[in-house]
Amino acid sequence: MAKMNPGFLNLKKSYLFIEIGRRVKEYMTAHPDNRVIRMGIGDVTQPLAPVVVEAMKKAADEMGVKETFRGYEDSGLGYDFLREAIAGYYKSYGVELPLDEILVSDGAKSDCGNIGDIFSADNSVIVTDPAYPVYVDSNVMGGREVQYVNSTEENGFAAMPDENMQAGGLIYLCSPNNPTGSVYTKEQLKVWVDYAIKTKSIIIFDAAYEAFISDPDLPRSIFEIEGARKCAVEICSLSKTAGFTGTRCGYTIVPKELMIEAPDGTEMSVHQLWTRRQGSKFNGVSYPVQRAAEAVFTPEGLKQTRETIAYYMQNAKVMADTFDELGIKYTGGKNSPYIWFKCPDGMDSWTFFDKLLNEAEIVGTPGEGFGKNGDGWFRLTAFGTHENTTEAMARIKALLKK
Ligand code: PLP
Repeated sequence: MAKMNPGFLNLKKSYLFIEIGRRVKEYMTAHPDNRVIRMGIGDVTQPLAPVVVEAMKKAADEMGVKETFRGYEDSGLGYDFLREAIAGYYKSYGVELPLDEILVSDGAKSDCGNIGDIFSADNSVIVTDPAYPVYVDSNVMGGREVQYVNSTEENGFAAMPDENMQAGGLIYLCSPNNPTGSVYTKEQLKVWVDYAIKTKSIIIFDAAYEAFISDPDLPRSIFEIEGARKCAVEICSLSKTAGFTGTRCGYTIVPKELMIEAPDGTEMSVHQLWTRRQGSKFNGVSYPVQRAAEAVFTPEGLKQTRETIAYYMQNAKVMADTFDELGIKYTGGKNSPYIWFKCPDGMDSWTFFDKLLNEAEIVGTPGEGFGKNGDGWFRLTAFGTHENTTEAMARIKALLKK
């Protein structure tokens, strides 16, 4: 009989959103006329920017004409027009990238999961706790054990290297962070980069929320940090930057000088391995989507997409002001679309979930779903509408001021 991948037996049950859905459904069945406000899911709500839609339509038209029709893209790793647009964006804040180090994909989740293919099963893996679940799940599926480094209230939910960890393999970092909204400073990332170089580790840096950073002193890319080209890969996405959650486009940056150990002890290029992996298992992103993505990085595209981000960040401000007023501790809300706050009165995160649902009719995400350090903490997102966010904050004030 065919045999299953035993790694799947070690996956934790992904009950978080199922359990949230079950409790919300139960509540709504009992109260069908009430208005429940959902602030739990990390999907965006605002439409694509007009300039992006125009570019996609124009490209779709080209696909319907013999002379401009396109089939498979040669490399499957991104048209030069998009790579140039991405390189230009990085250059605007001081990071120079050769075009062939930018590898276009259908999103950051796939790349975060797929990159595990190029690493041996016996690598050590370090993940911050709490974290976006794909880092843990994809490594467990690949038969790798995961060690956790703690993000806690004491360190502002910005975990730093821990000398007790077994290093020398992979390190997953995400900044601005989902779920905690914390953002690493350049100094903190430099500590991680030095640690990775010292321990011969590779950092997989998830920059999916870089576009939400408005503080010019905070790093948007790990490649702003000296030494990172020797020890890091960066994975990014247009999902939150430009509302591409349903359009699908992301990219991974792999420096040519980044090396990994081959079984015979020689050095092998990570770039070569990743392009080989993608060449074997991936056939590229559609032409209209790549044209749409290119439009994001034009001056008009940046203007329009940043207006949408400003809209979400206005929600984040309303939320942060509410928690400031209530004297509740939180991270995020600035330079991030997530607010991660401490459940009041020492409540665990599921008890608070029920209280918020039953007494204020608001749905959020219990922190525990992202790792053990998330217990007692709660995530709300700024991706809703102004109306819902303002209404939800008024309800939270009424509930918690009681
Ligand atoms: N990385 C992080 C930290 C995320 O929060 C998300 C989506 O919520 C992703 C990656 C997924 O991005 P994509 O839609 O490009 O797969």
